[in-house]
Amino acid sequence: MHRGGTPKLEVDPAGADAPVLVVGDAGGPPWLPAVAAELLAFTAIAAAVVVLIPGPDATRAGGGLALVALATWRALLRGRAVGPVGRALPAVAFAAAMAVLAAITGEPLYDVILCFNVLLVALQNDRRTLAIVLAATWAALAVPALVHPAGLGLRALVWSVLLPLLALPIQRRSQELRDRVALGPRLRALQAEMLARPDSREALVRAAPELAGCELVALVEPDRAGAFVVTAASRDDLVGTQVPDVAHSLVHRANRAGAPVFVPDARRTAELPPRLAELAAITSWFCAPVMGSGVVAAVLCAGWERPVRDPGDLRIDVVRSLASEASTTIDHTDLLRSLSASASRDQLTGLTNRRGWDGLLAKEMAISRSRGAPLSVAIIDLDRFKDYNDLNGHPAGDRLLRTAAGAWTAAIRQGDVLARWGGEEFTLLLPDCGGACALEVVERVRRSTPGGETCSAGIASWDGRESAIELFERMDEALYAAKAAGRDVAMLSPLPAPPPSPGDAAALLPA
Ligand code: GH3
Ligand code: MG
Ligand code: MG
Repeated sequence: MHRGGTPKLEVDPAGADAPVLVVGDAGGPPWLPAVAAELLAFTAIAAAVVVLIPGPDATRAGGGLALVALATWRALLRGRAVGPVGRALPAVAFAAAMAVLAAITGEPLYDVILCFNVLLVALQNDRRTLAIVLAATWAALAVPALVHPAGLGLRALVWSVLLPLLALPIQRRSQELRDRVALGPRLRALQAEMLARPDSREALVRAAPELAGCELVALVEPDRAGAFVVTAASRDDLVGTQVPDVAHSLVHRANRAGAPVFVPDARRTAELPPRLAELAAITSWFCAPVMGSGVVAAVLCAGWERPVRDPGDLRIDVVRSLASEASTTIDHTDLLRSLSASASRDQLTGLTNRRGWDGLLAKEMAISRSRGAPLSVAIIDLDRFKDYNDLNGHPAGDRLLRTAAGAWTAAIRQGDVLARWGGEEFTLLLPDCGGACALEVVERVRRSTPGGETCSAGIASWDGRESAIELFERMDEALYAAKAAGRDVAMLSPLPAPPPSPGDAAALLPA
């Protein structure tokens, strides 16, 4: 993973990372067996020190005790969030104890124990902790060597060179393994987040830079015309940018090959235009295809300012994992969105259906109430449509419904909503429109009815108090009145009487 250690993913821990609900008692803390095993191992090593290393009894016992103390300290730190200095402290104290013992005894084997100490730190800690312990160990080797230069000088020199050569690769490798293990839950958390959010693309590009330790992430998808366009990016100004289909385009290369494209250093790659390298000072690029149903559905690109040289780098693996994650979650959320869109759309006319209209009416009522703006609704019903069907056939009736929907939509303002309520009945939602305004709009709509057909309409202006059902009932009554009046007419429902004020109510009470 990148030098700063494991990147953190700031996502809601609900889902993949949610704490486990433990039912029943496991009998003692879960970390106890591991701590006990570690204490046992250290005690065994301490016993070996006491038995094997020659020298005064007190000194050997001191060495053994120091080892047990180190194990105890490490056990106390287990599970606690401490910084690199805190994590280094037990090993530093141990090195100091060994230095004192080596200085007193002049015993050379203490440097082997110091080496064990450093390697243990390298296996389990980050690079900063290791650097602190290495520095302490050099001091622990130098002090006894100064006291006993003949016996310890050369050994101290050899160990000083050997230790970093041994410990640094061990630390790097074990860190990478720890990062790889930690990545699984992070990717699961991101997947849960992507599935939970309405826009999975946004969740992906917001989380990706931290996960992949990169500075730039962009999801590029083909539009209807087949041109690749940035649909989501960690930098807002890139969204909507079209990626031209030129020879050096990494996106198009990844698309054509159906395989990832890696550029370790854009500045050293002559075939790439300088603009690509200048973009946010990115040095390394990795573009991975996002597959969907066997074809490239999108390309996920990541850019790093500091070069990533190795295609086997964990950061590259993270982007590949994100690309495969993206294919399932984006498919899933797109499907849900299109299902929810089609659930509120009428198939014949393409208009909002009754379900969609109900939702929009509730929203507009809330807006109207908060702004004190007028709001009207209307229902439009084709006259004698049954006769039209009987005369011209059902398919012709369908055509009339479709052309009427188109003509009526063209006759209303943007912001007004025409919905198909059912059959040959359509509803109109007219925000910012009082009774007189609604009559005007509905007359315009009625005049645009195609095929020489006519329609009747009932209109109701909301009084700001009645419920959606009460409002609908008034509108429906007005339509009945229009039909009863001979059709081809619009009727406006009178506003309901205001409820009696407290004063009026008091007047009704007996004196
Ligand atoms: P009125 O003027 O009183 O509204 O008379 P009408 O004939 O329009 O009303 P009625 O309710 O008697 O008949 C409505 C007709 O609309 C009956 C039904 O066959 C027809 N209809 C409903 N939905 C559709 C549809 O999706 N396509 C077609 N072609 N006809 C439909
Ligand atoms: Mg009807
Ligand atoms: Mg009708």
